[in-house]
Amino acid sequence: MTAKRTVQVMYASEPGSPDLDNEDFLFAGPRLAVVLDGVTPMVRTDTGCRHGVAWYAQTLGGHFVRLAGRDDGPGDGQGAESLADCLAEAIVATRDLHAGTCDLAHPDSPAATVAAARLRGDGLDVLDYLVLADSVVLLDLGDEDPVVLTDHRAGDVGRRLRAQGETPSAPRVRSHRNRPGGYWVAADRPEPAYEALTGTIDATGLRRLSVATDGATRLVDTFGTSDWRGMLDALVADGPDAWVARTREAERADAAAEPARRRERGKVHDDASVILGVVSAG
Ligand SMILES: [Zn+2]
Repeated sequence: MTAKRTVQVMYASEPGSPDLDNEDFLFAGPRLAVVLDGVTPMVRTDTGCRHGVAWYAQTLGGHFVRLAGRDDGPGDGQGAESLADCLAEAIVATRDLHAGTCDLAHPDSPAATVAAARLRGDGLDVLDYLVLADSVVLLDLGDEDPVVLTDHRAGDVGRRLRAQGETPSAPRVRSHRNRPGGYWVAADRPEPAYEALTGTIDATGLRRLSVATDGATRLVDTFGTSDWRGMLDALVADGPDAWVARTREAERADAAAEPARRRERGKVHDDASVILGVVSAG
């Protein structure tokens, strides 16, 4: 008989600026961890949507959590709907809420990245993941390095343009959004849900997991002051709030030291959301 496992969950979600809405969405429960990162439009007031990016991320996230978290009753969890199906359905439900009032064909119509991890079965021994665009799912399965699940296709578009001698301006990169050979985000059509990186793994060895938006992974992938394992260790040791505070410190130091590089990176601070789950035998 399998020992009853439990998951202790902690999280933090902070806007990049106290003057702006947090355009991240976060849900953290013992079986489901979800973050969405609303895509910042080029011109905040020109999106064709009267609701805005924060509304889009919150609404889509709410629908997704409702569908992905539907209890399929006791047992092996095999009856659960796939995360891609849940996301596709959530995109359609969100679209239907504003298709009548907003111009969803606008090129900067609200969109979001999505990262999710879901534990299933009575023993929490099966894990589903879904990653669409540059948020991340980190899984510590007891090996030296955690498994890192993220989707680099938006960055790849920029790199490809640069290799072709083009400046990867925001409109140029965006013209590859939700197109084959480009990159995929949740917006107004269900198809991108099926372009997400998805999978199901045996989670019997799972010790820790983290789900984070790219604003909360900068110490690793932008500043290089931590690696993924270090991120998990710091989250466990100091908590998600301290991790985000450390990120803000690094951003301030970087902006002060390297104004030119900061301009290249865009915004000084980004919305940052991070969930930590620690699995223990009860
Ligand atoms: Zn709208």
